[in-house]
Amino acid sequence: MSTPTPNAQRLLRTLIAQGPTYRADLARSLDVSRATVTNLTARLQAAGWIEETDPEPGSLKNLMGTTPQLGVLASVMFLVDACAVTVATLDGRVFGELTASCPDDVTASDRLATAAQLLEELLKDLPGTTETLRAVHLAVDTQMDARSGDIYAQRASSRWFGVNPKNYFAERFRVPVRVQNSARLEGLAEYLWGAGRGCANMLYVDVSYGITSGHVMDGVIQSGARGGSGELGHTVYDWDGPLCSCGNPGCLMQYTSIPAILRDFRMLNEGSEDWEQFRTRCAADDAVAASIARNAATVLGRMLTNVCHTIDPEIIVISGKVAREVPGFVEHAAAVLTGAALPLVARNVRVVSGELDDVLGVTARAGIHSLRAMDDLIVAASSLNA
Ligand SMILES: [Zn+2]
Repeated sequence: MSTPTPNAQRLLRTLIAQGPTYRADLARSLDVSRATVTNLTARLQAAGWIEETDPEPGSLKNLMGTTPQLGVLASVMFLVDACAVTVATLDGRVFGELTASCPDDVTASDRLATAAQLLEELLKDLPGTTETLRAVHLAVDTQMDARSGDIYAQRASSRWFGVNPKNYFAERFRVPVRVQNSARLEGLAEYLWGAGRGCANMLYVDVSYGITSGHVMDGVIQSGARGGSGELGHTVYDWDGPLCSCGNPGCLMQYTSIPAILRDFRMLNEGSEDWEQFRTRCAADDAVAASIARNAATVLGRMLTNVCHTIDPEIIVISGKVAREVPGFVEHAAAVLTGAALPLVARNVRVVSGELDDVLGVTARAGIHSLRAMDDLIVAASSLNA
């Protein structure tokens, strides 16, 4: 098919941006008559660029969506012990997801190769060829330069030492690769489908073995100039505090993460307790465990006060193993924050627990959403260039 007409391009862009849409709604979005949309969709369907998606049982109408032939997007995400790959059409319909475990002892290059193989498997099932792949969204659980893909190796991220994940996928699949930090992408998933739904300005905080955050505004993760923002766990609470793995003293994660909580718990007990034992003691209202959990939440609440004074989010969503498993943790951090913050923040900010459980699959889907919001990709796909 030759280059689509301007109206046809607008129709394709609308489907990519909005997802599958009824013909009547397309006419409204494009501000053209229904007859024009009927003609446009007939021509684009004949050319193989759009299709009627599976109708809902009993429905007389069919949604229009883009075909895999027009293009597909892939999202690859790494968490500490697993990777997930999702492939979707440009309009966001997911038609393939695979996951694999990537234990700590797997080398960085083997981890990349595992994910690339999953993606190749998914692409093999496509009606068409791999050339319909338009872009890859890549989320890695370490500090990666969003422009160059370089990993800034430090002790905390040694498992990714010596590779450039962005270049690896760009060279292997010959498509543009957009990168993001996995924790930030989890934040986007909470924004889209979890506790941040309906908010314009959300701060996501994950408190687990480390502490990470992601600031999402109007559906876009605010990653900073090179993706280095959101390292909340390494913001300093006390410059005379315990030494952190990053080399600085007194980082937040030396007070509020699972390793920090267990360190304090073991000091006051037998010296060998694990997280399960800490949880059990918290659930049983044990005074020592409760006091350690309370201190951890207090430090988090104080640090979040600083963050609120800097970015003033509408809502803070606190997730992760600590937030989920320690009773009252989120509520206490919220009380400290609202007690300490200036009135404009204190009276308005909402602090809630995260809602999403299946972090791996849901977060990979958020990568597809990110790609669909990128203008250059939409323009390239809808004008059928590149
Ligand atoms: Zn640190």
